Amino acid sequence: MRNFEFFEPTTVEEASSLLAQYNGKARLLAGGTDLIIGMKARTEMPEYVISLENIPGLDGITYDEGSGLRVGAMTKMRALETDAIIRDRYTALAEGAAEVGSIQIRHLATLGGNIGHASPAADAAAALLVLDAQVQIGSADGQRTVPIDALFTGPGTTVLEPGEIITAFEFPPRPANSGSQYLKQKIREVMDLAFVGVASAVTLNDGAVENTRIGLAAVAPTPIRATEAEGIINRYHPVTKEILEQAAEAASAQSRPISDLRCSAEYRRQIVGVLTRRTVQTAINRAQS
Ligand SMILES: Cc1cc2nc3c(=O)[nH]c(=O)nc-3n(C[C@H](O)[C@H](O)[C@H](O)COP(=O)(O)OP(=O)(O)OC[C@H]3O[C@@H](n4cnc5c(N)ncnc54)[C@H](O)[C@@H]3O)c2cc1C
Repeated sequence: MRNFEFFEPTTVEEASSLLAQYNGKARLLAGGTDLIIGMKARTEMPEYVISLENIPGLDGITYDEGSGLRVGAMTKMRALETDAIIRDRYTALAEGAAEVGSIQIRHLATLGGNIGHASPAADAAAALLVLDAQVQIGSADGQRTVPIDALFTGPGTTVLEPGEIITAFEFPPRPANSGSQYLKQKIREVMDLAFVGVASAVTLNDGAVENTRIGLAAVAPTPIRATEAEGIINRYHPVTKEILEQAAEAASAQSRPISDLRCSAEYRRQIVGVLTRRTVQTAINRAQS
């Protein structure tokens, strides 16, 4: 690891000013489970590292029936997977968090780091897409909000401008008659990155399925929504086996996976279909229960 200067600011404004001042040479440090690994491997060689640890208010989960869920960027994956409201109402997020690495990693890894790193395979990303997350971004110049489906621009890149920091994620309230699920296809049981991740979320209205969201991870340069498949589920009632099959095919067609050492693009496309079918069905079952 090469030498670097370390900062521990106590406000978002201070952290933002440092990030902007050392633009291109500085990196934010949250849990460090991506950054420190990269620095050790010398794929990341920042001259300045800015810790977010000492900034009050970046960590924590709050829920209000009227305004919904707020998760601070420094909230750990372990807190997300064990939180009762998230497990009940925002289940795909709890399941996405629970898929990250090992329990030791999840005690360090933050939601802000998972999304800030912008890996197409990030386990929390598909859940954020289907739960309509709004990303709160802070800087020395103020705050702005970006919908999660407008955040990612490519592998490892986002719309964040120099000096901008993710401060929190906000999610609209989820009614009791809604359900969601995240499933991840991997080779090893634990400590393996997704070669396909799919999250689905639905709301029921008089038995009809509405507001279907399907999010895909690891099968395109960024996490994406399978909008064609969503439209198919929303259009037809009841959601039969045949409709699920059509949606699965549409999600596969909308994915743009690559072939690599672990598996072929064709296999990934097939798995997108399988996981779409399963997660939509489970989301519906959960909404009904
Ligand atoms: C052994 C191991 C297994 C893993 N398995 C998985 C897995 O199964 N699934 C998975 O998705 N990930 C996995 N990861 C990757 C990693 O744990 C997660 O991506 C984690 O959520 C990163 O969070 P962090 O707090 O550690 O981020 P850090 O490493 O501190 O930061 C990651 C990146 O995000 C930026 N960043 C951090 N916080 C912010 C912020 N608030 N605003 C803007 N940018 C920010 C940093 O500058 C850095 O570029 C694994 C890592 C390891 C080491």
